[in-house]
Amino acid sequence: MSDCLFCKIIAGDIPSNKVYEDDLCYAFYDIDPQAPTHFLVVPKAHIASVAEVTGENEAVVGHIFTVISKLTKELGLESYRVVSNIGEQAGQSVPHLHFHVLSGRDMTWPPG
Ligand code: AMP
Ligand code: ZN
Repeated sequence: MSDCLFCKIIAGDIPSNKVYEDDLCYAFYDIDPQAPTHFLVVPKAHIASVAEVTGENEAVVGHIFTVISKLTKELGLESYRVVSNIGEQAGQSVPHLHFHVLSGRDMTWPPG
């Protein structure tokens, strides 16, 4: 999608600090980290949020979780949190599906 920040990052039109890339997804460090390690994993295809996941595009979500499982092991992260915000009230600021991976500090529950 031409007007989407994360589509522009995936295309290389906006610079990012890449963690990982394959045919289906792209991972990069968050520009405003909320933990000592904080990166985002996004599908390369534009999907607005979890609310737009369907039987047609669900495979990429499973793939992203496989990538998260591998990347966190490679980075030596034993404990981490995976978060996806959906909609304004939940704090979604970029309307392209993304999973935050946060690690390296104590975390509270419930989240704020
Ligand atoms: P959310 O608020 O859940 O939609 O998450 C969007 C995330 O994207 C926030 O944590 C932002 O800090 C992050 N972000 C925004 N612009 C950039 C960028 N250019 N590079 C990396 N992360 C970004
Ligand atoms: Zn997009």
